Amino acid sequence: MRIFDPHIHMTSRTTDDYERMAAAGVRALVEPAFWLGQPRTNVGSFTDYFDSLVGWEPFRAGQFGIRHHATIALNPKEANDPRCRDVLQILPRYLEKDGVVAVGEIGYDSMTPEEDEAFSAQLALAVEHELPALVHTPHRDKARGTERTLAVVRESGIDPGRVAVDHLNEVTVGTVAGSGCWMGFSIYPDTKMTAERMVHILREYGLERMLVNSAADWGRSDPLLTRRTGEAMLAAGFCDDDVDRVLWRNPVEFYGQSKRLDLSDVDAGATFEGNSILRGGS
Ligand SMILES: [Zn+2]
Repeated sequence: MRIFDPHIHMTSRTTDDYERMAAAGVRALVEPAFWLGQPRTNVGSFTDYFDSLVGWEPFRAGQFGIRHHATIALNPKEANDPRCRDVLQILPRYLEKDGVVAVGEIGYDSMTPEEDEAFSAQLALAVEHELPALVHTPHRDKARGTERTLAVVRESGIDPGRVAVDHLNEVTVGTVAGSGCWMGFSIYPDTKMTAERMVHILREYGLERMLVNSAADWGRSDPLLTRRTGEAMLAAGFCDDDVDRVLWRNPVEFYGQSKRLDLSDVDAGATFEGNSILRGGS
C-alpha cells in the first residue's frame, strides 16, 4: 500500500514517527503551516518556521525515503494576533518556493472579522501564485463554519477544484460535496473522525475528490491512521485500486495542480524495514 498523507504536522512528531510511517507505506506527505502551541510574538518567528518547513523537515523525511512538501500561510488562529498580521507581507516570497504546493492552512478558527480578512487575502494570493488552497474548518460550530467557508471561497473567484476543505465529518461532507471543492478528512484515534466512519462516508459519497489524512498534530493523534483507513476500506470490500486512489492518486492530483509536486524517484514498492536508513548508519 503506497500512501501520500496530504495533511500532517511533522514538526510536532518525532523521528521515530517517520520510521514507522515509512514502514507502513507512507512515501510522500504535505505538511501545512499551522501554529506552534506557544503563540508567536513576531514575524521573524514565522520566517524561521517556514524555512524549516522547506528545509529541515524535507531533509528529515528524506532520510526515511519520504518525500516532503509544504503549504505556507498565516493560520486562522494567529490571524487574530496583531503581532502576526505582517506575516501576510512575507508570504509571496515563500509561495514561489519549489517545495510549496499550496496556500494553507487558511480559513476559520473562531470566525472573527480578522480571520475573514486573512482568509480572503490568502485566497487571493493562491489565485495570484496559481496554487491550490488548503482550508481548515473550525472544530466548534462546524456546520456554520463550513457554510461560511464555502461562501468566502465562492466570492474569491478561485476554481473550487483547486480548494480542499479539510476536517470534515458526517455533518459537513454533504455541504462540500456539491461545491466542487475537494473534501478532506482528518482521522483521529478517538475523536472527531475514525477510520470506520471514514469508510461509511466513502461508501455514501464515492471516492472522487476525497482526501484522507492523519493530521497528526500537538493533540492526541496517530500518523499511521491513513494506513488504518486503507485497511478498513479493504475489510469493507473496497479493492486495492480504490485504496490507491484515495491514499495516493487523489492527493497527487490535488497538489499536482501546483505543478511543483516532485515524486521522482519515490520508490513506492520499497520497504524500509531493515534498510540501512533505519539502522541509523549515516
Ligand atoms: Zn492541520
